[in-house]
Amino acid sequence: MLIGSRSTKSVNVFASAYTLDHRVFLAGDAVHTHSPKAGQGMNISMLDMHNLCWKINLVEKGMADAATILPTYELERRDIAQQLIRFDAEYSRIFSGRSPDATQLTDDPLLAGKHKGAAVDAQKFIEVFKKNARFTSGVGAVYAKQSALNAVEQSKAVKGLKLTIGERLTPGKLTRAMDANVVRLQQEVRMNGAFRIHVFAGELGKTSQQLEAFGKHLDSPNSFFNKYRPAQGVSSSIVDGFYVASNHLEDATKKTHEYNPFFTLLTIIATNYYEWEMDQLPSPFNHYRSQMYGDNIFDKRVMEAGTNAPVHKKYGIDTSIGAIVVVRPDGYVGLAVNMNSEGIQTLEQYFAGFLKAPTGASVGSSKL
Ligand SMILES: Cc1cc2nc3c(=O)[nH]c(=O)nc-3n(C[C@H](O)[C@H](O)[C@H](O)COP(=O)(O)OP(=O)(O)OC[C@H]3O[C@@H](n4cnc5c(N)ncnc54)[C@H](O)[C@@H]3O)c2cc1C
Repeated sequence: MLIGSRSTKSVNVFASAYTLDHRVFLAGDAVHTHSPKAGQGMNISMLDMHNLCWKINLVEKGMADAATILPTYELERRDIAQQLIRFDAEYSRIFSGRSPDATQLTDDPLLAGKHKGAAVDAQKFIEVFKKNARFTSGVGAVYAKQSALNAVEQSKAVKGLKLTIGERLTPGKLTRAMDANVVRLQQEVRMNGAFRIHVFAGELGKTSQQLEAFGKHLDSPNSFFNKYRPAQGVSSSIVDGFYVASNHLEDATKKTHEYNPFFTLLTIIATNYYEWEMDQLPSPFNHYRSQMYGDNIFDKRVMEAGTNAPVHKKYGIDTSIGAIVVVRPDGYVGLAVNMNSEGIQTLEQYFAGFLKAPTGASVGSSKL
């Protein structure tokens, strides 16, 4: 195995393996070392760990088999490291081993002349920087391969879908029904180890039956929500606790919904938020008081939608059908299905592909 050390030269080093028996893992500079020019080493290193931690968490809490889920760490992160090293090599070549200063990045012949022989090609620099902007921002670091966690093929059933499976959830602004605040969907749930089940419910006048059917399924003992539960009292993370309790506070008297710390439900409704009541939504969606949203915030990227369900439009979701979008605990989209019986079946198959029902007498969760 090659282990890299820090270098200010463009020496790119890449490990032959990320793990020993899925018990010892390498991450960060220990698996991919390159020049500091790209300014990406820390970003990518932290995301290595971000990718691995929630998977280990599922295994440790008895929710997933190590043999199924842990190999996806290398599968996903190796591709990203290879892209990083390609980008770094291309980027470093532009500087020929020298750091640019302001005058090196100019087209001004007077200034460039002062640095004859040392100037960076400004056009080339801009071109390479722009080409890689999505990758360096982190959004373009995509897990493009079909896998148990990234259901690329299954998600094709959602015609016109504009979300990319294996990519971070595209930002979207919504009105939170509970307090009428404008919020960013991708920031609504903390990184707490839970899967986020986004229910894009479309127009209630057209989809209420499908929404009701999905709710009934979720509340049944055979749903992934009820089959895959940690042992009594086990939470998904240390940031869970109070946050989750306060989120469900208003629900405390109903005692109907069995909360599961590994799944959280967010319901996004295309119908104007002042035309429906929170209690009108069926169980279990009505229990997530602070995670119901109206989709009416203008977004210049989908101007044509105006205030009429711009996020549905942006994500390519038909408001007369609705869709269920699973976002993994690390914020990546894992699966999208139509909100109908086939979609629900695909959703079940997806979770059955890597989760398992924990064994032992104390399995369960507290009622809220
Ligand atoms: C000049 C420079 C500029 C950079 N600029 C950026 C930037 O702008 N943006 C960016 O994202 N990245 C940047 N990077 C890259 C970034 O610093 C690294 O990619 C990142 O720190 C890697 O994190 P790591 O945890 O994998 O390794 P490290 O940060 O190297 O951590 C490894 C740790 O292990 C310790 N260690 C080593 N051997 C042992 C041992 N035997 N026992 C116990 N401990 C041990 C080390 O002391 C160290 O604390 C830059 C790097 C350099 C050199």
